[in-house]
Amino acid sequence: MSIVVQKYGGSSVADVARMKRVAERVMRTRREGHELVVVVSAMGDTTDDLLALAKQVSPNPDRRELDMLLTAGERISMALLSIAIRELGGEAISFTGSQSGIITNDRHVDARIIEVRPYRVQDELARGKIVVIAGYQGVSYRREITTLGRGGSDTTAVAMAAALGAEYCEICSDVDGVYTADPRVVPSASRIATLSYEETQELAESGAKVLNAQAVEFAKEKGIAIYARATASALPGADPSIDGTVIQHPLRRDAVRPAGAVVGVASERDVLVLDADGGPQGPGDVLALLDDYNVAGKQLHLAGGFLTMVISRENLHEEGRLRAELSRRFGDRVRLIDMLGAVSVIGAGINASFQNLRRGSEVLAASGIVARRVATSSFRITWMIDRARLDDAVKVLHSTFIETRSA
Ligand code: ADP
Ligand code: ASP
Ligand code: MG
Repeated sequence: MSIVVQKYGGSSVADVARMKRVAERVMRTRREGHELVVVVSAMGDTTDDLLALAKQVSPNPDRRELDMLLTAGERISMALLSIAIRELGGEAISFTGSQSGIITNDRHVDARIIEVRPYRVQDELARGKIVVIAGYQGVSYRREITTLGRGGSDTTAVAMAAALGAEYCEICSDVDGVYTADPRVVPSASRIATLSYEETQELAESGAKVLNAQAVEFAKEKGIAIYARATASALPGADPSIDGTVIQHPLRRDAVRPAGAVVGVASERDVLVLDADGGPQGPGDVLALLDDYNVAGKQLHLAGGFLTMVISRENLHEEGRLRAELSRRFGDRVRLIDMLGAVSVIGAGINASFQNLRRGSEVLAASGIVARRVATSSFRITWMIDRARLDDAVKVLHSTFIETRSA
C-alpha cells in the first residue's frame, strides 16, 4: 500500500462543520486504499489570536514560552480531527510533533527540522491506523518544544512525507493551487498547472503564502512531489495538474516554459529594511546582534562597510527589544525603515538580459510607483516600494508580464 500525506490548513479546519468535511475527505482517501498521515494546522486564526494574547501580556514575549503557547493551537486541531474521523468509523490516532519524531534545532519560534524519527507513526500505520499529526511543531535535542515559523505545517507535512517515503504530499487549502498572483489581489490570476521546485521556492520566499518556502526546500532536497489543491476539490486523479498545482522534478515536457518567461508575481508587505554603517570595524557586530535575536535577513548586500538587508517580520516577536538594543549599541549607525514592501516577479532565467528588469521598472514608474531599491537573482527581480502601493504594483506587473503574454 502506498503512503499518502495530506495537510489541511487553518481555513480548512476553522470550525466544526469544516473539520467534519475534512474527516470525510480523509475517509474517502482511505477507501482508495492508501496508508494515510494527516497533518493539521490550528483552527482559523487561532495562531494569530494566541500571539495577540501573548502580546497583551508582554510586548516582547519570551520565545520559548511562545512556543509552548503556539503549539497548543495545532494540538486542539489534531485531537478534534481524530475524534471526527473516529465518529465516521475510521481508526485514527493523533500525535504531537514531538511524538511523531520531528526533531529540530533550538531556534525557538523559527526552528528548522534536523531529523525525523517517525517510528511511532510507522507502528500505527502498520496497525492500520490513520495518523493525525499536529503541524508546525517539533522538539529540540534538548527536549524543548519548538515551532517551525509561520506557515510551518506545510514543512511538517513534507518532512513527514520524505521520512515515510510517501508517494506524494497533498497540501490542501482554501485555494485550488498556486496562482500567477494572489487571487485575492488579482482576480484575473490563473492557476499554474505545474511548477518546478525552484520557481515555487522563489514564489514562496517572495511572499506567496500558499506554500511555505522551507517546505518546498525540503521537498526539493528529498524529491517529494507536492500537490497543492483545494480542500473542497476531488481527490487527485491520474493527472492532478488538471485541478491543482503539481510541483515536482522533472517538469513534464509540455509544461516547460520558454526561458526568461515570468511565471508569477508575489509581494511581501510586513518587512523592515535595515541599513547599517559598519564603521571601521565593519558590520560584524550588527550581524552578531541580529543572530542573538534570531533575526533572519534576506537580500543582504554589503559594500564598502555599508550593510543593507530586508527583514521579514513574520517570525520577529521582540521587535521593541531589538530596536532598543540596536539603538543603544549602534545609535544613528543603524536605521530600520518601516514603510517599504517588496514586489517580485519570478521565472527561470528572467535576468539573462536586463529586458524584464527594464520593462518592470518602466511600468512601475508609469504608474507613479517609485522603486526605492531593486535586487535580482537568477529566478527573481524584487522592487522595494512604498507599502501602500504594493497591490497596485502586483496588478500592473501581472498585467504586463502575464496577462499580455497569454492574450
Ligand atoms: P492555509 O491556511 O491553508 O495554510 P494560507 O492562508 O497559508 O492557507 O495560504 C492560502 C492563501 O494564500 C490563499 O487564500 C491566497 O489568498 C494566498 N496566496 C498568496 N499568493 C498566492 C498564490 N500565488 N497562489 C495562490 N494563493 C496565494
Ligand atoms: N498555525 C501556524 C500558522 O498560522 C502554522 C500553519 O498554519 O502552517 O502560522
Ligand atoms: Mg499556510
